[in-house]
Amino acid sequence: MKKRVLSGCRASGKLHLGNYLGGIKGMIELQNNPQYETFYMVANAHAITTPYSPKELKEDTIDVIIDYLSAGLDPEKSTLFIQSQVSEHFELAYYFSSIVSIARMQHLPTYKEKVKQYPQNNTMALLNYPVLMAADILVYKANLVPVGIDQEPHLEVAREIARKMNQLYGTNFPEPVRFSTPGEYIPSLKGEGKMSKSVEDSYINLTDSLDEIRKKIRSIPTATISGGPIKGGIKTLFLLAELFLRQTDYQKFKDQYHNGSLKFVTIKDVLAETIYQELKPFQEKRNQIAQNKDYLEKVIKQGAEKARAIASETLKEIKEKMGLM
Ligand code: ATP
Ligand code: MG
Repeated sequence: MKKRVLSGCRASGKLHLGNYLGGIKGMIELQNNPQYETFYMVANAHAITTPYSPKELKEDTIDVIIDYLSAGLDPEKSTLFIQSQVSEHFELAYYFSSIVSIARMQHLPTYKEKVKQYPQNNTMALLNYPVLMAADILVYKANLVPVGIDQEPHLEVAREIARKMNQLYGTNFPEPVRFSTPGEYIPSLKGEGKMSKSVEDSYINLTDSLDEIRKKIRSIPTATISGGPIKGGIKTLFLLAELFLRQTDYQKFKDQYHNGSLKFVTIKDVLAETIYQELKPFQEKRNQIAQNKDYLEKVIKQGAEKARAIASETLKEIKEKMGLM
């Protein structure tokens, strides 16, 4: 039997370079490997754990589907679906919540960060996020999860839940592991923390124009003169340079930095141009796909049907084993 893969992006705004390099690139790689059966969702229910507008959530949800298709996810190879359309995820999350302690959830770094970011929004749904994520993965009995390193603590929770369910109820959930890519951690343009949809000025969107990218890259805080330890915004700049520039160019700029001759605006503008060239084919494809509403509708409908067929089998088994009718 093929190994299963599950991943997704929150429908919490336009996707950025971190989402592409840390998440979607790995999703594409596994989709194109015939050893795997891939399930990729738009995590719209995870998006209501932080403040949102219903109208924007709807638009963002479709936008993520368009981004997936434009980046190379293929509905013939992967099951592409919208999380809220497969209600089995929520049912399984509720059953899982009976074996997870509140304290375990309260101590997760991701939970603490979000509470700090939105103190007025310390909700049950936010606390329950990792339990729902465990259900997202385990409802397909997925072994492999292509996501960025920020999701590692949540995967640990999913493994704990799988183990405990197997011990208590004799289920056969796998312990899912993360599939990582070279861009598993893309730092914020502000030089502190990670690039995030929900942090203003931290990101480059996949749909940004060359001018926008240039402006954003130029805004990365760097020193007036080069040399010294590589940290903060300079670290961000070099990390992006390492991922996007040719190895020889990257090395040249790094040498210039260390001997004090680097002009930051030069490396910044070269980097902006290179990132834009990498995104251009995606953007062109996106413009076409976004027009084709019938096709999008068909992809979404078929994806939900395929996902439900498998998820409902797991639910049937779990309910029986837990003594639920
Ligand atoms: P939000 O701030 O709303 O949580 P986000 O930018 O963290 O948005 P998610 O939708 O939570 O994005 O994550 C989608 C995918 O992108 C996940 O696989 C996640 O691990 C990955 N990802 C998010 N940010 C980064 C980053 N800075 N570097 C690498 N991968 C990332
Ligand atoms: Mg996130």
